[in-house]
Amino acid sequence: MTTKRITHWINGKPWTGTAQRQGDLYDPATGQVSGAVDFASQADVDDAVAAAKEAAKAWGRISLSKRTSVLFAFRELVKSRTADIAALITSEHGKVASDAAGEVARGLEVVEFACGIPHLLKGGFSENVSTGVDSYSIRQPLGVVAGITPFNFPAMVPMWMFPVAIACGNAFVLKPSEKDPSASVLLAQLWAEAGLPDGVFNVVHGDKVAVDALLNHPDVAAASFVGSTPIARYVYETGTKAGKRVQALGGAKNHMVVLPDADLDLAADAAVSAGFGSAGERCMAISALVAVDPVADELIAKIKDRVAKLVVGPGSDGRSEMGPLVTRVHRDKVASYLDSGVRQGATLEIDGRAHPVSGGAPGEANADGFWLGPSVLDHVTTSMDAYRDEIFGPVLSVIRAKSYADAVDLVNDSPYGNGVAIFTNDGGAARRFVSECQIGMVGVNVPIPVPMAYYSFGGWKASLFGDTHVHGTEGVHFYTRGKVVTSRWLDPSHGGVNLGFPVNS
Ligand code: NAD
Repeated sequence: MTTKRITHWINGKPWTGTAQRQGDLYDPATGQVSGAVDFASQADVDDAVAAAKEAAKAWGRISLSKRTSVLFAFRELVKSRTADIAALITSEHGKVASDAAGEVARGLEVVEFACGIPHLLKGGFSENVSTGVDSYSIRQPLGVVAGITPFNFPAMVPMWMFPVAIACGNAFVLKPSEKDPSASVLLAQLWAEAGLPDGVFNVVHGDKVAVDALLNHPDVAAASFVGSTPIARYVYETGTKAGKRVQALGGAKNHMVVLPDADLDLAADAAVSAGFGSAGERCMAISALVAVDPVADELIAKIKDRVAKLVVGPGSDGRSEMGPLVTRVHRDKVASYLDSGVRQGATLEIDGRAHPVSGGAPGEANADGFWLGPSVLDHVTTSMDAYRDEIFGPVLSVIRAKSYADAVDLVNDSPYGNGVAIFTNDGGAARRFVSECQIGMVGVNVPIPVPMAYYSFGGWKASLFGDTHVHGTEGVHFYTRGKVVTSRWLDPSHGGVNLGFPVNS
């Protein structure tokens, strides 16, 4: 089997050095090593930031129409190469090809949003704020900005960040997950093909060494992070201490509340799709199903029917609906919650370890893949590890609530606040829930309420450190600084020296 080597992209081309450290890449469907990724040293990050700093000088001054023409070209290229990007994602992450293509499509929506940057950067103008004096506001780029991203969306999450940052006139240094780094390199090539000047988009691979180098670099003005809560907190604290603007999106524990009047077939479809899609490795996955009395038994029966039919197999096989987990370590950790759940009093209604794995090329060594089928734990309580921890895998925990009020308390007592969904046919109850829940993104009969690109994505509480969500107008705000100009052109009414504080007249 041939193995690949993935390296950095600095100043418009692949890096040609020899890395002191590398990480293994795996095909999660076979469990085999498929290649290696170079890990950046402090010096490599310095080179990328230096290239970005130089490029940002010209890019920040280039006309809006030239910037948008590059963005439109990039949009066309990504769209035409969607299948290739998706195949890279499947080969390293494991998710099924249609899901991988879906994440590229959601990332493209942010590129399309960024194509409207001339409108988004329009400032305000006030004529004659004082006699003969005008005021206007402008937003200017920050310079060099960094993005640090997780394994679970190797194309979409970086695309939440860099299209907006680049459209605003910044240069970008991306540090993608070391588990699935290839999509980011193809995206870098497509930027180059689209005509983006060298150095405006750079990719450095690696681990904590690269992240720390970016967070402490004096020429990096801001950092966007998406990943787990402990690292998000660390990135926020480290970056802000070094004087940077930081937005750090963390982990999640998303609840789906099912009220007694809900359509239970719709709810069961939604719970299975949102619980097990992408093998539960989504920050907006549903992991806590809150069944308000008396729906639990009927709802679980409907979920069981659906799960029995789910096809688990290699992501590259068009028949598969759910692929493997990303690494063996992660698979084993997720599976351990099935045991701890039972030990702590839950009932294992569906054991994903027994789910058949099918498909794949003839002779493919599926047996060694990082497989874990969909699982359901019932009678889960808030003291159990399966409820308290973000499992980030295909395990749905059912918590039985006595009333709507108990369900809302449960949701609001969670330290996380990323997404939540309510399933009901009662408009009044849904409206009250939308108002009462302390969560950043809410779905009403919609299990995964990911906002469109022109709104902003982000959670509350331990799901976000910082005060700005990503993309949408908050993204534009994050990647720019405001400036207000007060101007007067001399005319015969100019009044001479005045040492008093400027007052308007
Ligand atoms: P992770 O926190 O392990 O890694 C994220 C990034 O941080 C990677 O680039 C990684 O290399 C880097 N990193 C890891 N350890 C580090 C350390 N000690 N110091 C500095 N940098 C470090 O997350 P992951 O496992 O790649 O992704 C899954 C997590 O991401 C889940 O918790 C999920 O909920 C979260 N996530 C959140 C959102 C959101 O929008 N809130 C979206 C997607 C994923």
